[in-house]
This record gives sequence, structure tokens and C-alpha cells, in this order.
Amino acid sequence: MVRPLDRMTMFPIQIDAANGAAARALNAAGWDTPSMGRILVVEDEADLNDLITRQLRQEGHEVYQAFDGQVGLDTVRSVEPDLVILDWMLPKLDGIAVARKIRERYVTPILMLTARGEETDIVLGLEVGADDYLTKPFRMRELLARVRAMLRRIAINQEAAPAPAPDAPSDMIEAGDGAIAVSLTMRTATAHGEELELTPKEFDLLALFVQNPGRAFSRDYLLERVWGDDVYVTDRTVDTHVQRLRKKLGDEAEAIRTVWGIGYKFQVKQSATAGS
Ligand code: CA
Repeated sequence: MVRPLDRMTMFPIQIDAANGAAARALNAAGWDTPSMGRILVVEDEADLNDLITRQLRQEGHEVYQAFDGQVGLDTVRSVEPDLVILDWMLPKLDGIAVARKIRERYVTPILMLTARGEETDIVLGLEVGADDYLTKPFRMRELLARVRAMLRRIAINQEAAPAPAPDAPSDMIEAGDGAIAVSLTMRTATAHGEELELTPKEFDLLALFVQNPGRAFSRDYLLERVWGDDVYVTDRTVDTHVQRLRKKLGDEAEAIRTVWGIGYKFQVKQSATAGS
């Protein structure tokens, strides 16, 4: 499976100039090295959902829960997880429909849970884009092993992706005397030298802002530019992403300013020494 380069920004182990060697060393160190990820559990049986969630959190993963198909799909769009554990029979939108919708837009690996064992159902699940499946009832150990294997596969695929040469011409765009810096080819960003863990959409937003300081962007423009033809987004999509981006920017959160009645613009604080 070919994975777009921008998936790299979603994964805690990022391949970049600073820690690429470390990530490679980690993978080379042994198969037992756990890969942490952002995981969404879509399962309407609350007890089972909670149990899976607890176990995954114990392993160090960042876990989100959804209890019906529609919320599951919405969460995929807002959280952009590294892996989705998806139950087959779900209220509102069943697992097959959810998997299809996810595949229209994302390459996120899907582990399908099914209570049925019929081969045709499993084949159908895999056809709509599930990467693996588990038949209920299953042992939690088995689920955790599958999750580990799937996350490892992402890490390996990312490693296989061609990384820009370290001596490539600098594409760093900086704002506020380097308070915020963005590398367009590496798809990495820093605030005061600290690397930011951004989702692909958050990165796209920040890159657009940093490249156009002072320009006011309408929500519609941002939707068009960053989300393109994703028909499931709303004005609130922009707002929630901006909120998350601000949070991640910490001290520089104010750089993304609200332009009332329009949308947002990017303007860093004047540094203390620059004032007159
Ligand atoms: Ca169910």
C-alpha cells in the first residue's frame, strides 16, 4: 500500500532530519519495540469499547472512542487516527459503510471486528478496504498483537518513503524571528525550536498561514484550499482545527488571529527588540 508522505506528520515517530536516525535505530533495535499511535475504537458495545480502549491506553496509545458509525466517521475526519478498530454491526452507519467512506479519503489502516465468521463477510470487509479482521469473540492479546503489527507496518512504510536529502536547499519559512518555523518539504514545524506534532491538515493550515502573513482567509477559502473536495466538512471543521493548532502553538497561539465575520489571519507578535 502506498502511503502519502503527509501521513508521516501524524505518527509520533517522525522521520525527519532531527530524529530520523533515532527512528531507524528504534526499528532496527527489534520487532518488540512498540509503535505508539493514535487509535480510534468504533464499537457500540460500551463494555467492549471501554475494555479495548483501556488496554490500548495501557500500551501507551492515544485512544479515541466512538459508539456508532456516524460518530466514528466524524472522528476519523477530526482526529485523523493512525489506525481504526471498526466493529461490523453498528447503529446509524454499519462498519462496511464506514470503511467505504474512510477509504474515499484516507489510507488509515482498518482492523475490522466481526461477530460473523462467514467467509463472504470477511472477504467483503477486506474488499471495502479493511486491512485486517478479527472474529468475535477474540482474545485481547490477539487484538493487541494485530494492532502492534499494523502500526509497525505504517512505521516501516514511512521509513521506506524517500526522505529529502539532508543537504537539500533550505525551504524553511520562519515567522516572528524564528518563533515559528515550517519546512515544506519535510512537513515539519517548530515553535521556539520545539517540534510540533501536527496532523496533515493542521500542518497544511499552518504552512498556508506562515506563507501568507497578514492575509485574512475566509473559512470557505481555507476549506477549499486545505480540505479540497471533502464534502463532509463544515465551517466548524476549520474552527476546530484552528483551535487545536493554536493549542499546539503554545506561546505563539495568538499568531492565528480571528478576523471577525471573515475567518483567520496569521500575524506573529512583534518581538520585544523590534518595537520602537
Ligand atoms: Ca456491534
